[in-house]
Amino acid sequence: MQSMENELRNALKKKQFEIHYQPQKSVKSGRIVGLEALLRWEHPDKGSIPPMDFIPLAERTGLINEIGEWVIYEACRQNKRWQEDGYDPMVVSVNLSAVQLDQTNLIEKVKCILRNTDLDPEYLELEITESMSMSNEENILETINGFHQLGVSVSIDDFGTGYSSLKNLSLYPITKIKIDKMFIDGSQEHNKTIVKSIIHLSHALNMKVIAEGVETKEQFAFLEREKCDEIQGYYFSKPLPPDELNQFFLRSG
Ligand code: C2E
Ligand code: MG
Ligand code: MG
Repeated sequence: MQSMENELRNALKKKQFEIHYQPQKSVKSGRIVGLEALLRWEHPDKGSIPPMDFIPLAERTGLINEIGEWVIYEACRQNKRWQEDGYDPMVVSVNLSAVQLDQTNLIEKVKCILRNTDLDPEYLELEITESMSMSNEENILETINGFHQLGVSVSIDDFGTGYSSLKNLSLYPITKIKIDKMFIDGSQEHNKTIVKSIIHLSHALNMKVIAEGVETKEQFAFLEREKCDEIQGYYFSKPLPPDELNQFFLRSG
């Protein structure tokens, strides 16, 4: 039996990775404005392995750099393809790992991918987590500025679960804050207070704000009332493979 590490090493070559895309909807217009790229490992024996079960190993072994670069490439290629097929242009967002951010040539790699896929940079967004954005501050500022200069936007994922420096948040050219799904569960009154505060904070800093993990009508109604810009979650759509999304776009016009 091969070790998980060896299998992971070969997974790219064997084309076992797939990207599912989860629509992000504008609360105001009701239109799909973005898609988050979420990696899946389709293992021949074990079936679909969720990212949390192999990304830590990919990070420890350094394989995440190669895998992560493929995710950016594939998401840009697919997004360009949708545009060529005549769908309304959308932003595709790709999750970055802390290990990837440490690469000195990451900006150059992204630039190269945009050139090769011919995707306009305004249709790519990169997600970093709150804790990533607060560690190694000088490096991160330089990297985020580099993306900004390329025309690629950067968002803060899982906001509210880590440590933040409001100073950094206001200094970095961040375009969007993603409220972590743990706060969207409105059955707890303090979560509602936290969500309201994050929405106000984002808007005060001239950033957009999106709620993740929206599952119910009540949650959606609350976010709409509080003027959250976008939502993402099972209430609207789960992450879908590209061919199923084509039908989704057609359905929603
Ligand atoms: P994330 O970036 O915060 O992504 C959101 C996760 O919430 C996804 O899990 C998504 O399927 C799930 N989700 C979406 N809507 C709902 C909902 O309404 N309810 C619930 N309970 N969950 C919802 P997934 O796909 O398993 O991904 C987990 C994490 O793995 C991601 O969290 C992200 O941190 C990481 N990840 C995924 N793809 C990549 C990748 O290409 N590179 C890196 N570095 N990390 C990735
Ligand atoms: Mg994310
Ligand atoms: Mg998240």
